[in-house]
Amino acid sequence: MTYERERALICELGRRMWTRGWVAANDGNLSIRLPGGRILVTPAGVSKGFLSPGMLLVTDLEGRVLEGAEDLRPSSETPLHLMCYRARPDVGGVCHAHPPAATAFACARLPLDRPVLGEVLMTLGEVPVAPYGQSGTEELPRAVEPLVRTHDAVLLSNHGALTVGPGLEQAYWRLETVEHTAEILWRLRALGGGVELTPEQAAALRGGK
Ligand SMILES: [Zn+2]
Repeated sequence: MTYERERALICELGRRMWTRGWVAANDGNLSIRLPGGRILVTPAGVSKGFLSPGMLLVTDLEGRVLEGAEDLRPSSETPLHLMCYRARPDVGGVCHAHPPAATAFACARLPLDRPVLGEVLMTLGEVPVAPYGQSGTEELPRAVEPLVRTHDAVLLSNHGALTVGPGLEQAYWRLETVEHTAEILWRLRALGGGVELTPEQAAALRGGK
């Protein structure tokens, strides 16, 4: 089988997303950029908690299947992943899931942009909410593309979260940070909102973000 290491990584991170309750049933999708303008992507209709290496598909950057089991097709959100790779040559991995706290912010159309968590400002920056685009159609990548060009994590209106990274591990860590941040901001609301950093403190942490 080709790309054994990459296939094993997608299966492992899919299991983590499912175990953490970030995907229900067959939700969510993961991909890795391969050499030669190809990607390795999860199949449609399979739980991310029960992936095996042979279920993953290799496509080109137009979404044409180059390798894969006959009875499987690429995730319906493959166009969303392809958009990330086309828009950002620096991106090597993409994660999409429906983590509950982040997805609640996405449904309320609230960005994760309050300057309260210093380390998040340093590492991830602000997480904006993309305009609504219908899942599984070209409308979704069109709605998200302008924000992916300048952000490594984006909330998808009334849907979920999308993260990118130089590799899939980094994209996955960013998804963890997004959900952790959403959980904390949610709890802060119950505590009266918390105390924001001053503009000077926030600017010092943001650096290049
Ligand atoms: Zn989704």
